[in-house]
Amino acid sequence: MILDCAIIGGGPAGLTAGLYATRGGLNNVVMFEKGMPGGQITNSSEIENYPGVTGEITGMELMNPWPEQCQKFGLKHEMVNVTRLTKTGDIFTVHKEDGTTTDAYSVIIGTGSSPRRVGFSGEDELFGKGVSTCATCDGFFYKGKEVAVIGGGDTALEEALYLAKICSKVYLVHRRDTFRSAPNTIQRVKKTENIELVLNSSPDEVYGDAMGVVGLKVKNKDGEIRDIVVPGVFTFVGNDVNNETLLQEDGTFLCYMNEQGQVIVDISMKTSVAGLFATGDMRIAAPKQVVSAAGDGAVAALQAISFVDELLND
Ligand code: FAD
Ligand code: NAP
Repeated sequence: MILDCAIIGGGPAGLTAGLYATRGGLNNVVMFEKGMPGGQITNSSEIENYPGVTGEITGMELMNPWPEQCQKFGLKHEMVNVTRLTKTGDIFTVHKEDGTTTDAYSVIIGTGSSPRRVGFSGEDELFGKGVSTCATCDGFFYKGKEVAVIGGGDTALEEALYLAKICSKVYLVHRRDTFRSAPNTIQRVKKTENIELVLNSSPDEVYGDAMGVVGLKVKNKDGEIRDIVVPGVFTFVGNDVNNETLLQEDGTFLCYMNEQGQVIVDISMKTSVAGLFATGDMRIAAPKQVVSAAGDGAVAALQAISFVDELLND
């Protein structure tokens, strides 16, 4: 059997694509997700910017009902790691880690991105409990409090400026004494009174208690340790797009990507390959939010419905 649509990734983008594709009339739709559906937001202890959800809610609680809603309209879920996606003629083939393959007329991919970890002690244990990679998401929790930001690129400096408007003080910890950010951004950071630059310093350890992060120890180039007592630590040391699935045997990608490995799409989430749509955090210019990933999934599914209809009925 050839699927009408294969969905790779079961985060907000993939699940919304599944909802719209099945409810919109596609019959055989399978979502391939390597873990529990829900995506990276399930790591967050609180989300308060998903429209209409006003109570205190964890990422897990937000995502819990999504798979059931999709299944009601016929979405099937296969828990498997997709290793590669290929296309021959009009047919896509989903290659899976268990050695099996599935064919499909259209594919919506939403495998997300993974913020790089810095690699200091306590980072993994306190991730989502004070250690964060998203200032838009978590900054508000530290309104009027002090926080630390790790990194010296455009993202770290821009997010430090964003946090400086919400928090009483931002310690910007960078391992060198020069930044790789745009000169104008560096100037703005230097002019911002409540940003303290902690240069030539790398995070050594984040420590906490049952409530979450209590502080961050940083080590400078002379080996001296400084204890920065903050309830929030934001790390911005680069991002890796989860694009391995699109890598072909000859080392090229199935569709066009930009230099950062993000999938190039148009406003309809169409990639350079007919019938392949890319959504959420893995696409170019992604706002990296649940609501926008979900929106991408809906757009892509509506496009996939038209694509399959034209392919099979023309
Ligand atoms: P993801 O959520 O990353 O989902 C991708 C899915 O694909 C994953 O489930 C993964 O297991 C699966 N997958 C990957 N590769 C494969 C493969 N090869 N085979 C099968 N399955 C695969 N956003 C907000 O709007 N508000 C917030 O408050 C907020 N807080 C956040 C807090 C934290 C700690 C983090 C990490 C992120 C936060 N975000 C927040 C960002 C938000 O989580 C992402 O923008 C959103 O989840 C992106 O959705 P996605 O579907 O594109 O990708
Ligand atoms: P980035 O440019 O790769 O910067 C990562 C920063 O993290 C660097 O300062 C790096 O230090 C530091 N770092 C990396 N690993 C570390 C570690 N283990 N410990 C401590 N520090 C570590 O990443 P980015 O800031 O996310 O930007 C990614 C791309 O998007 C860039 O091309 C950037 O220009 C672009 N971007 C553009 C804009 C904009 O145009 N407005 C906004 C955001 C991002 P070193 O400097 O010492 O290497």
